[in-house]
Amino acid sequence: MAVDFPSFDLDVADPPYLLTPGPLNTSANVKAAMLKDWGSRDLDFRSMTATLRARLLEIAGGQESGLECVPVQGSGTFAVEAMLGSLIPPDATTLVLINGAYGHRMAEILRRLGRAYHSVDKGDSLPVTIEDVAAALDEHPEISHVAVVHCETSTGILNPLTGISAMVKGWGRTLLVDSMSAFGALPVDRDTIRFDALAASSNKCLESVPGIGFVIASTPVIEAAEGNSRSLSLDLHAQWTGLNRTGQWRFTPPTHVVAALIHALEEHRCEGGVEGRRRRYELNRDTLVNGMRELGFRTLLPDAWLSPIIVTFLCPRYEGFDFERFYAAMKDKGFVLYPGKLTAADSFRMGCIGRLDAGVMKLAVKAVAETLTELGIPDGAPEVDNHPEAPASQSGNR
Ligand SMILES: *Cc1c(COP(=O)(O)O)cnc(C)c1O
Repeated sequence: MAVDFPSFDLDVADPPYLLTPGPLNTSANVKAAMLKDWGSRDLDFRSMTATLRARLLEIAGGQESGLECVPVQGSGTFAVEAMLGSLIPPDATTLVLINGAYGHRMAEILRRLGRAYHSVDKGDSLPVTIEDVAAALDEHPEISHVAVVHCETSTGILNPLTGISAMVKGWGRTLLVDSMSAFGALPVDRDTIRFDALAASSNKCLESVPGIGFVIASTPVIEAAEGNSRSLSLDLHAQWTGLNRTGQWRFTPPTHVVAALIHALEEHRCEGGVEGRRRRYELNRDTLVNGMRELGFRTLLPDAWLSPIIVTFLCPRYEGFDFERFYAAMKDKGFVLYPGKLTAADSFRMGCIGRLDAGVMKLAVKAVAETLTELGIPDGAPEVDNHPEAPASQSGNR
């Protein structure tokens, strides 16, 4: 796994380094962009909101692409909930494609909203496939909407959305994507992914501070959404018409977060947009994975499914290995790790995203090596048969 990397003068963040799925390290200038106060109804801030919406749209294909950008106050889940609750009519049936915690979360949102759905659950370590989608649509012709996670951050698995989106559109269904941990670093233009709507947030690959989620949806899909939402604050159609009519958010906007995100989008552009960011994250991942493998660690997933976002490593097989102690020793050295989210195997995660470069990833591997020595763990090799089994796909109603 070797990557050619053009030199780019990255303003790497200070420790602690957050090797997590977000919030992440941000640049000094992104943080500095918040050192001012804005009146939410003032013209200056209205124009910042317009800039923000236009810049986010550019990443998904621009003003001419027939898409609308609707920002939502809150974390990423608020945007996912707004997307599902607003764009799916109350009497529609949805197919949820699941291979980790975020797929389960979408199903849970639909369950709470009392919306009918079927699901395909691939377990922890397999991507969803076009065959899964075809089988479910064939079995349940009443399905009108399909919801899928782009990069399943709970393991780092990258779902093959180009094929899945072509299949869903081929069947004439509506595709809703949770692109939270992919947007900004993996292509989401509609030539690549034929989505009808996607949700993402400020604090992942856009490298800004948390506080804004947003949905990018095709104009006819959002136009048709009037009256679908049972929530007042998460009503995307109302938020969209309000923004278009007055230029203002309906309720108190996260003004400083808007300012930071506009600056972060400028840095994103300077780095070469989605392509530049993806290359840095790939180099981060390759540096991390190669270094960890040299220490004996094994990734949960084969190389083909490893995203440049976050990587799951299986825990070493030695009795004395305790993740809490490993975590604390790494934190002492300036690196914040993330526990695993697998049911079938002990694991932990290390993120590749945020204002970090390959130099930081090398330091992280060095810190892991030192930590193993301190804890008396000879190497990172996991139990050989520790690899989680992939359960058969299943489909069930709520
Ligand atoms: C981070 C993330 C979310 C949203 O999580 P929040 O904690 O609400 O920001 C949703 N889906 C995926 C795939 C994510 O990575």
